Amino acid sequence: MGLQPELVDRFGRSVNYLRISVTDRCDLRCVYCMAEDVKFVPRSQLLTLEEIERIARAFVELGVRKIRITGGEPLTRSNVTHLFRALGAMPSLRELTLTTNGTQLPRYARELREAGVRRINISIDSLDPQRFRAITRTGKLQRTLDGIEAAIDAGFDRIKLNAVVLKNRNHDEVVDLVRFARRRGLDISFIEEMPLGVVVEHDRAEAFYASDEILRDLRRHYQLLPTTENSGGPARYYRFPDSETRVGFISPHSHNFCEQCNRVRLTAEGRLLLCLGQEHSADLRRVVRAHPTDPEPLRQAIIEAMQLKPKGHEFDLRAEPVIFRHMNTTGG
Ligand code: SAM
Ligand code: SF4
Repeated sequence: MGLQPELVDRFGRSVNYLRISVTDRCDLRCVYCMAEDVKFVPRSQLLTLEEIERIARAFVELGVRKIRITGGEPLTRSNVTHLFRALGAMPSLRELTLTTNGTQLPRYARELREAGVRRINISIDSLDPQRFRAITRTGKLQRTLDGIEAAIDAGFDRIKLNAVVLKNRNHDEVVDLVRFARRRGLDISFIEEMPLGVVVEHDRAEAFYASDEILRDLRRHYQLLPTTENSGGPARYYRFPDSETRVGFISPHSHNFCEQCNRVRLTAEGRLLLCLGQEHSADLRRVVRAHPTDPEPLRQAIIEAMQLKPKGHEFDLRAEPVIFRHMNTTGG
C-alpha cells in the first residue's frame, strides 16, 4: 500500500470506483428515468469503445479498482462485449460489474461471465406484467424474467435486483419482490427516486416512498437483521436469519451517503461527472481526441478533475429539478 497512485478529492475522499455509461439509448422508457419522447445523443458524439477503454485504463492506472458498465441500456450498444473483454483483462481491476434491465441477457449473459464479470445488477420494479409495462412504458416483464434466469444459468457469483419504489405504483409489491429474490437466491436493493431531469408522468414528491417505510412493510413478514456490510457504496444492507439474500436500501433522501462517496461517472459523450446530483464535470472526450497516442494529458485531466468533486448532492423532490440530465445519461 502507499505506492499505488490514488485519486483523492478536496474532502479527502479516495475515488476508486468508476461508472461508465456506454450509451444513453435504451429499449425501455422507465417513467422515472427518461421522457417518453427522449432525444438521444447523436452517435457521432459518443465515445468509441476504444476511447472508453483508454479512459478506463487511465483510471485503473490511477488506482480505480471497480468499474460498473451502465447506461441507458448498456447491452444495446453494438459490440459492447469487446469492451467487457478488454476491461476484464486488466489485471489491476478487481471488479467489473454491470447494471442492466435484463432484456438482452439471454443473448449475452454467458459471454459477460466469460469476460470476467462476476456480479451483475438487474433492474425490475414489478412482477405484474401490466404494471411492468406501465412503469417501463414499453417493456415486457417476461423478457426481463428470462434475462434473470439466463444470468442465474450463466453462474454469476452474485446477482442483485434493483427496484425503484414509487408510492401507488409498486410500493405494495416490495414483499413480493423480496419473496422472489429469496426464492431465486438473489440480492435485492430498493431505491428512492432521484430528481434527475424533468419528468411529467408523475409528481416525484407525491410518489416518494421512503426506505424506512419499505423496511417497515418487509418487517411485517420477515425478520431482517441490519449488517455492517458496506459494498463501498451508498446502500445499507439487511440479512435474513434463514437465507443468503441481502436486502439493500439506497436512500438519497432519507439517508444521505455523500460523505463516503468513492465514485465518479463517465457519460457516453465522455463527460466525467464528479457527482450524480451536481453538474461539476470535465470533458475527457476532448482530451482523448486531442492526444490520441499520449496517455499523460488524460491522466493529468483525471487527476485535476478530482478537485471539482463537490461535497454532496442537494436533492430536493419538492423543488424544481436542478439537474436537467436524465438518469439514462449518467447511468445511476
Ligand atoms: N438500463 C439499465 C437498468 O435499468 O438497469 C442501466 C441504467 S439505469 C439508468 C440504472 C439504474 O438507475 C436502474 O436500476 C434504474 O432503475 C435506476 N434509475 C433510473 N432513473 C432513476 C431515478 N430517477 N432515481 C433513482 N433511480 C433511477
Ligand atoms: Fe432504460 Fe434503465 Fe432508464 Fe429504464 S432505468 S429507461 S431500463 S436506462
